[in-house]
Amino acid sequence: MTNTNEKTAARLSYAKSDAPSPWATYLVQVERVAPYLGNLARWVETLRHPKRTMIVDVPIEMDDGVVRHFEGFRVQHNLSRGPGKGGVRFHPQVTLDETMALAAWMTIKTAAMDLPFGGAKGGIRVDPFMLSQNELEKLTRRYTSEISMIIGPQKDIPAPDVNTNAQVMAWMMDTYSMQMGFTASGVVTGKPLHLGGSLGRVKATGRGVFVTGREAASRIGLALEGARVCIQGFGNVGSSAAELFAYNGARIVAIQDQWGTLIDEAGIDVKALVATSHQTKGIGGSPANNEAFWDTPCDILILAALESQMTPDRARRTTAKMVLEGANGPTLPGADDILSDRNILVMPDVICNAGGVTVSYFEWVQDFSSFFWSENEINARLDTLMVEALRKIWACADRNSISLRTATYVIACERILTARQERGLYP
Ligand code: GLU
Repeated sequence: MTNTNEKTAARLSYAKSDAPSPWATYLVQVERVAPYLGNLARWVETLRHPKRTMIVDVPIEMDDGVVRHFEGFRVQHNLSRGPGKGGVRFHPQVTLDETMALAAWMTIKTAAMDLPFGGAKGGIRVDPFMLSQNELEKLTRRYTSEISMIIGPQKDIPAPDVNTNAQVMAWMMDTYSMQMGFTASGVVTGKPLHLGGSLGRVKATGRGVFVTGREAASRIGLALEGARVCIQGFGNVGSSAAELFAYNGARIVAIQDQWGTLIDEAGIDVKALVATSHQTKGIGGSPANNEAFWDTPCDILILAALESQMTPDRARRTTAKMVLEGANGPTLPGADDILSDRNILVMPDVICNAGGVTVSYFEWVQDFSSFFWSENEINARLDTLMVEALRKIWACADRNSISLRTATYVIACERILTARQERGLYP
């Protein structure tokens, strides 16, 4: 039996890493795409400079009367192709460096999917599990108010990310709307349904991970029926992907989240786990930093937790045939190279987890037109767009003999930098 202190230590060390920073990882990825950009390489420097970064102080009065200050960020990495788009995360390890990288990955992701958006991201350095509902609401509202001058349906549209959800989006939408004097439902996506949210949005990222895995499996001749799947992260993305893989006959043999690790060769009952993990905190099991998770024999490894989790050491140990990046930035560049040398297929974050922002785009379009689509229509459109994007990425990778990550960057950067070039420099 582990005591509470040990559990907290395990939870924090699960997220901690001595690895290169997320922004450093992103810069390596940009370095790798530059040789494939032809004349557009002239503009590549633009991707190394976030367009706008905002650091805000977020003071709130806690339930016990003490006033505490939290640090918040909103980064708009690139707006060449449209308004900024990207989530807001509440996590004790949020930094400006991380938010810059997450915003940049959104720039690449929206372009890879050909959505008419740029890339942005926000966050607050806070452990939301230590806050009451009342404190969480105050924190969200004050943060929204602080960044309200740079967000808006045509400017920058936040959405849920790690530890934020539809309720947080409702508070953000309300705060912004109260300041503007009208109801601006298009200012955030991932809202509750009756506030202009979209059907299918909650599970969209997990669905996109599944679609990507399904397409990749068919390419390498791996049957999903009976395939062994390990999943790191059992939040919105990991749990939705787990359900779809299980529904399609795969066996979920290991799950690890910030609260614990479950390993069961016979297969974990995902439906039951989803139900209980919503009531209790997390999935339980052995400690969250149990390294045995990475040695569990599997065919598909889904990384749906945080950045920098796939280290070179873990890349050498995994038995997976395929890695699906449900999280943003989970694989370090050194690990990427080892996986590639070992012929393990990596489906990169900037396409694999793009289902969320794609349905966010559908939500934004629905809000503008005040006309709402059925869930079947949304899921079908998501499937079609992702399959088409994957087809182009695969063709580019084959043509240039490059990884799928670099191929995704080639396609995305061509779109971003062409827009940059056509718009020209102002003044
Ligand atoms: N936070 C999600 C992501 O990292 C979704 C962002 C959005 O819908 O704007 O892609």
